[in-house]
Amino acid sequence: MHPFSYARPQDVKTALDELTAEPTHTAKFIAGGTNLIDLMKENVERPGRLVDINWLPLATITDTEGGGLRLGALVTNADTAYNEQVIARYPLLSQTILAGASPQLRNMATNGGNLFQRNRCFYFYDRATPCNKRQPGSGCGALNGYNRIHAILGTESSANSPQCIATHPSDMCVALAALEAVVRVTGPNGERTIPMADFHRLPGDEPQYDNTLQPDELVTAIDLPAKGFPDYHTYLKLRDRASYAFALVSVAVGLELDGDTITDARLALGGVAHKPWRRPEAEALLIGKPTTKENYSRAAESLLEGAQGFGHNTFKIELAKRAIVRALGIAARQEPTE
Ligand SMILES: Cc1cc2nc3c(=O)[nH]c(=O)nc-3n(C[C@H](O)[C@H](O)[C@H](O)COP(=O)(O)OP(=O)(O)OC[C@H]3O[C@@H](n4cnc5c(N)ncnc54)[C@H](O)[C@@H]3O)c2cc1C
Ligand code: SF4
Repeated sequence: MHPFSYARPQDVKTALDELTAEPTHTAKFIAGGTNLIDLMKENVERPGRLVDINWLPLATITDTEGGGLRLGALVTNADTAYNEQVIARYPLLSQTILAGASPQLRNMATNGGNLFQRNRCFYFYDRATPCNKRQPGSGCGALNGYNRIHAILGTESSANSPQCIATHPSDMCVALAALEAVVRVTGPNGERTIPMADFHRLPGDEPQYDNTLQPDELVTAIDLPAKGFPDYHTYLKLRDRASYAFALVSVAVGLELDGDTITDARLALGGVAHKPWRRPEAEALLIGKPTTKENYSRAAESLLEGAQGFGHNTFKIELAKRAIVRALGIAARQEPTE
């Protein structure tokens, strides 16, 4: 492992100062360490200084003025999923977190860290292979390699040849996208908020950047809006084994129903793109419509519009469509039968 120094600040301002004062500008925050330490062991991440944020006062869940819930960045994934308010008002989020990782990992992993976990592309971890995300301009081992777990949406670059086809691996972020959560951030210029839809980015011509956080900023909390879709929701995660695996395709659904008519709909996909995938047009196709398989299929076709496979992962296009139809049925509690 690359040598590094270590700081343990007690407040947000000192944490920001510790991050920016590091002379080689390679300092990193560390929270649960469940992703960062793995990457350091593989020499993919080589921070010169670790700024341990576990002592900052960011480990509470509180009500917001707007009737929502504020999840502190340092609340663990487990404490979030088992929080009474989250279970009652945002069961989609609770279910989604519990579909990710293992109990041991969820006890360490934090809400803030989960937003930043890096992709699971084999070539990204293997320093002997080219990777535009690890080393911009070096190429992409996955494009013509074994790309079974890779992206089918949002891979375009300006040269029409994708530079990165990695997917964002988080489960929690798929639910946060469906719930239209807002990320609260503090930097040298004060506080700002970033809607989940704008937090993660598509690779485009700069695949080295996963998100829109500035290098001198810290995530302090995630705000959930008042609407939690508690009555009709589901998270369907399809993976190679029932426990302890990242999603090949996942679907987060939140619905509001008036009888069997859909009055509001949220639909987000995981495992298919560099960010949780939503398309307002697909959701609009459901609103005002009855809960039928035909309507679910139309929404699925719309959400997958423009999908492109790269060989090993082409099966994901059909898998995702079927998963959407099934998830909508489960959320409306009328699972369609084939
Ligand atoms: C074997 C294994 C299986 C897993 N399976 C799944 C799965 O199925 N689904 C899933 O969703 N996840 C899965 N995970 C990933 C796990 O959820 C993440 O590793 C975890 O959420 C990261 O949180 P952390 O607090 O440990 O982050 P850390 O490892 O501490 O940090 C990760 C990154 O976030 C940055 N960071 C952390 N907090 C902040 C902050 N507040 N502000 C700014 N930057 C910050 C750090 O600098 C670092 O770059 C798995 C992990 C492992 C090891
Ligand atoms: S898909 Fe992205 S992360 Fe994987 S090798 Fe290509 S550039 Fe690197």
